[in-house]
Amino acid sequence: MHTLYSRLGANVTAFLARPHRLLIDGQWVEPRSERRFDVEDPGTGAVIARVAEGTAADIDLAVAAARRAFESGPWATSRPAERTRLLLRLAELLEQHGDELAQLETLDNGKPLAVARRGIAGTADMVRYMAGWATKLTGEAVPLSMPGEWHAYTAHEPVGVVGQIIPWNFPLSMAIWKLAPALAAGCTVVLKPAEQTPLNALRLGELILEAGFPPGVVNIVTGFGGDAGAALAAHPGVDKVAFTGSTQTGKRIVQAALGNLKRVTLELGGKSPVFIFPDADLEAAIPGAANAIFFNSGQVCSAGSRLYVHRRVYDRVLADIAAHGERLRLGHGLEEGVDLGPLISRPQRERVEAYVADGRASGVEVLGGRQVLPEHGHFVAPTVLADTRADLRVVREEIFGPVLCAMPFDDDDLERLAGLANDTEYGLFAGIWTRDLTLAHRFARRIRAGSVSVNAHMVNDPALPFGGYKQSGWGRERGREALELYCELKSVAINLG
Ligand code: ADP
Ligand code: MG
Repeated sequence: MHTLYSRLGANVTAFLARPHRLLIDGQWVEPRSERRFDVEDPGTGAVIARVAEGTAADIDLAVAAARRAFESGPWATSRPAERTRLLLRLAELLEQHGDELAQLETLDNGKPLAVARRGIAGTADMVRYMAGWATKLTGEAVPLSMPGEWHAYTAHEPVGVVGQIIPWNFPLSMAIWKLAPALAAGCTVVLKPAEQTPLNALRLGELILEAGFPPGVVNIVTGFGGDAGAALAAHPGVDKVAFTGSTQTGKRIVQAALGNLKRVTLELGGKSPVFIFPDADLEAAIPGAANAIFFNSGQVCSAGSRLYVHRRVYDRVLADIAAHGERLRLGHGLEEGVDLGPLISRPQRERVEAYVADGRASGVEVLGGRQVLPEHGHFVAPTVLADTRADLRVVREEIFGPVLCAMPFDDDDLERLAGLANDTEYGLFAGIWTRDLTLAHRFARRIRAGSVSVNAHMVNDPALPFGGYKQSGWGRERGREALELYCELKSVAINLG
């Protein structure tokens, strides 16, 4: 298995071997704890690097540096066009180092190299999109009706020092989705990557320095959630915390943020429904619904994990999705032709396996999931649980693995179908497959979710807002909305006499 590592570029091998420190105030510094922790390749279980264990003491230093940069450094008076220029430079560096970043992403997270490579290209697009907003975040002149003559206007001002806590499923993309709008808006940042996948955040830190961002604008503290993460969420010197991860941890973030009432945005879990109507183009809907759950081995917050199929086409759709899953090649992300990598860790694999066992125990039929798994690494085969019921744990809880729960419907009543879609504490995403546009529009309106795709799944355009209703989160990422959530809105009224 390790022979695969000979495919790594020299720059990747060199990066892995470097001593990894924390980025604070433009310098790479040792953690106060003087401890390091192991970073594992989930495709082999081997330790590939050791990174600094940042703790509350390092968070204090990072927040202080971010505060100085926000209030008195060159960033404090930076013109919007200067922020655009720096972000565009960063986008170029992401592209230049695309192969290297993709290899690191694969090693750290496990995903197939081709998938990682596409993800890196997407990060450059996101940075460019957000870079453009820096010069376009206008307020408005407000006509007042009070007696007298007035000039009143609104203006967006950066919220200040932002703590950003990100998950392990798309390590670099999640860092970029968080950093790009915050920097475009003029905030300064302390970023804490997930302990499972800290590598690309560190490489990104190097590229951020190379792009020329002033010291303290971006600080990166690797460390554990319960320690560095909790300290960041609770820190009185942080004006906003932005989090992506589990709903359970999101609730802890909210509690930690109460102390200084910092602003909070959350992008949390999901149990997103996909509906296939009998008139749908099944040639597209079947692979679409399969990818919606199997992509990234199901470790996607917006995964289409509940599938509702009209009874007329149910048997065929299920058999074909299971067959699609069985054709997917599982393997180490650096292997040629691999479709699915491992899950992120042993505990994650055990969690997912326990859900499948629970489904089996409650009597549902299990389709697929029979591939021979690679010997090393935390692999789970794509699995379809057929004829599931709304009350089952596998249908109610987020599994975060390649496990689809399928149910037939034979109802034409959209209110009742929306009742099925909305029978969840989450509300992140929904998919609709039909050729009937009227049906699609009417159904989309009735679904309580932040994103709906029709005849497509996961439309990740930087311009399209993404975020959750209900317990899937607060706020939106991507689009203008993401920037506005890194701003305070000020209104100014001038008495002209
Ligand atoms: P998982 O349980 O799969 O690791 P989490 O939602 O707990 O998912 O983790 C997402 C991110 O949140 C990671 O960066 C993790 O370190 C961080 N995190 C975990 N617990 C806390 C916490 N109590 N406070 C702040 N951040 C946390
Ligand atoms: Mg890892």
